[in-house]
Amino acid sequence: AKDPMRVLVTGAAGQIGYALVPMIARGAMLGPDQPVIIHMLDIEPAAEALKGVTMELIDAAFPLLKGIVATTNAVEACKGVNVAIMVGGFPRKEEMERKDMMSKNVSIYKAQASALEQHAAPNCKVLVVANPANTNALILKEFAPSIQEKNISCLTRLDHNRALGQISERLKVHVGDVKNVIIWGNHSSTQYPDVNHATVNTGKEWKPVRELVSDGQWLNTEFITTVQQRGAAIIKARKLSSALSAASAACDHMHDWILGTPKGTWVSMGVCSDGSYGIQPGLIYSFPVTCEKGEWSMVQGLQIDEFSKAKMDATAKELIEEKALAYSCLN
Ligand code: NDP
Repeated sequence: AKDPMRVLVTGAAGQIGYALVPMIARGAMLGPDQPVIIHMLDIEPAAEALKGVTMELIDAAFPLLKGIVATTNAVEACKGVNVAIMVGGFPRKEEMERKDMMSKNVSIYKAQASALEQHAAPNCKVLVVANPANTNALILKEFAPSIQEKNISCLTRLDHNRALGQISERLKVHVGDVKNVIIWGNHSSTQYPDVNHATVNTGKEWKPVRELVSDGQWLNTEFITTVQQRGAAIIKARKLSSALSAASAACDHMHDWILGTPKGTWVSMGVCSDGSYGIQPGLIYSFPVTCEKGEWSMVQGLQIDEFSKAKMDATAKELIEEKALAYSCLN
């Protein structure tokens, strides 16, 4: 039998955490034959709620769950973890200034960077979910220089899956028969969901989405805004945010990163730019990637038209501004 892997979930008593830990314990993230020890971190005010989650994990009697560490101590939480899912963060509040929100998160991610750097297992893979996800990941990267930058990522897989879902609904095909959409840039409303390379399985062959969706205008307008604003639409309907799909996407992200993407298929991940596609090196930006043996690599050489280029640059510009704001909070 395999040795258990240690998986950290921060903000574990929150909405996403509550949906995520049972998925991990059932093998949705690391596979049905991979035992896990779940480390849950939350802050003092959530300690009691965290106890409740721990009780429920015990009561669920998951065969793969070999241990639980539930704590409000970041050092204890990070000890020996192989995978870290960073969900904890200071939530957006309507009356709050953007700078105040950024400031709170920058200090959280700076502190957690050192805890991870000093105590996580070597080669620990990190996924940041908490918003502003790309910039939180950037801060984590800058303040944990001994963690290789290829091991730090942020979640745009939810946006990716939403894009697949919209195409699937439009063409009345199963979502598994749609592939290779791309989310470029920031996990925010400036993200660019791109279908120019996406294909659909017609039963005989994979055909470009652009050939199958007769209304090209829909792809350039409503499709994009629907994906960008899907989070807000769910909050409106549910009066709560999209925790189930966010948790599921976090599992998909880590699953594919560690276990690989199917041949001929790519996914979107927020990773450190190397300058590909003209994106400023060092930014955490969502790119199309393929994964093999626990390593992602960027899909290179895709044709980018003017429409796409403008949108890719606009979301990069927002990330550059966020980075500047984050740094101004540090000083
Ligand atoms: P959620 O579990 O709903 O969300 C957690 C984070 O994920 C937020 O930053 C949220 O951003 C982000 N997020 C990213 N994608 C999505 C998505 N699709 N849907 C919803 N959220 C998304 O928040 P809760 O408030 O329920 O839980 C947060 C937990 O973090 C709490 O248990 C709290 O105690 C803990 N916390 C930890 C801190 C720390 O580590 N120092 C500080 C503050 C809180 P957005 O805000 O934009 O919705």
